[in-house]
Amino acid sequence: MLERIEEIRAEANAAIGAAASSAELEELRVRYLGRKAELTGVLRGIADLAPEERGKVGGAANKARKELEALLEASAERLDASELDARLVADRVDVSLPGAPPRAVGHTHLIARTTRQIEDIMVGLGYSVAEGPEIEHDYYNFTALNHPPGHPARMLQDTFYVRSHPEVLLRTHTSPMQIRAMETQPPPIFIVIPGKVYRRDSDATHSPMFHQMEGLAIAEGLTLADLQGTLLAMVRGIFGGEREVRLRPHFFPFTEPSVEVDVSCFQCEGTGTLADGERCNLCKGQGWIEILGAGMVDPNVLGFVADSGYDPERVQGFAFGLGIERVAMLRHGVPDLRRFFDNDVRMLEQFS
Ligand SMILES: [Zn+2]
Repeated sequence: MLERIEEIRAEANAAIGAAASSAELEELRVRYLGRKAELTGVLRGIADLAPEERGKVGGAANKARKELEALLEASAERLDASELDARLVADRVDVSLPGAPPRAVGHTHLIARTTRQIEDIMVGLGYSVAEGPEIEHDYYNFTALNHPPGHPARMLQDTFYVRSHPEVLLRTHTSPMQIRAMETQPPPIFIVIPGKVYRRDSDATHSPMFHQMEGLAIAEGLTLADLQGTLLAMVRGIFGGEREVRLRPHFFPFTEPSVEVDVSCFQCEGTGTLADGERCNLCKGQGWIEILGAGMVDPNVLGFVADSGYDPERVQGFAFGLGIERVAMLRHGVPDLRRFFDNDVRMLEQFS
């Protein structure tokens, strides 16, 4: 009997060691340790043995069963792990493969890229970037910016109003955010405000929706010379280190004095004449290109935020606003502003 137990143990040991799958392992468990297995029968029959046999046979059979159980458990773990590995290899999806058909990788729109470039220049000068709502209240868009009732910019033909709420409109400039920023932050303040603005215009150089970059600087002792120096640094960042700026008197309701700002032409180096003697088409022979509007913030405007610490007797500053599309058109020779928004990839992909 002891020999038979040893034979079963050795046979099962070899079979379990050679099992190649968990299904095969389960068959072996049933064959050697199941209810009908020979070893199970031996254990069940111990009571019928002669008393002097019971101890030896029972001990050997139990030892064999425990050994096989341990072996089955170890083999099951080994096979589970290798079967998982095999499944992972078989099911692997390479997520880095291109789709079918492969798609070209896109890029930032020229308007967004131009906006970020100007932001970078201004952040380098110590400004922070602020954004505000495109649906704006009349108060912020006009009143607090010194556009009194009856001002031409408030006319229906210039501005999109919300029919059910005549005091609500699509902002016509990013300037309302000047007031909103000053209401929440005492001076000194140095911010740029990029964003979409809306006017009822549509032609080769106007779109009902376009983008502006507003700048606002308020502190003690700021002068027109600070404005000129800031604009010079900005246009040199945009158009190249050789550029100059020129300020011409102008009028805006919310600045006093107001100026229009020209940059020296980067195509003819400010001469108005090209290398072949032809008149420069970009600046129309003038040597200067109008680029933005600016001025010293009108004390009346600061009066609207005096409660936030903007005492016009104590702080001064300047503001400027430029059209992102105009900058992009000038820099990249785009003849028609509407091309930016046609979403024609043949046009857009030229600026990748
Ligand atoms: Zn020129």
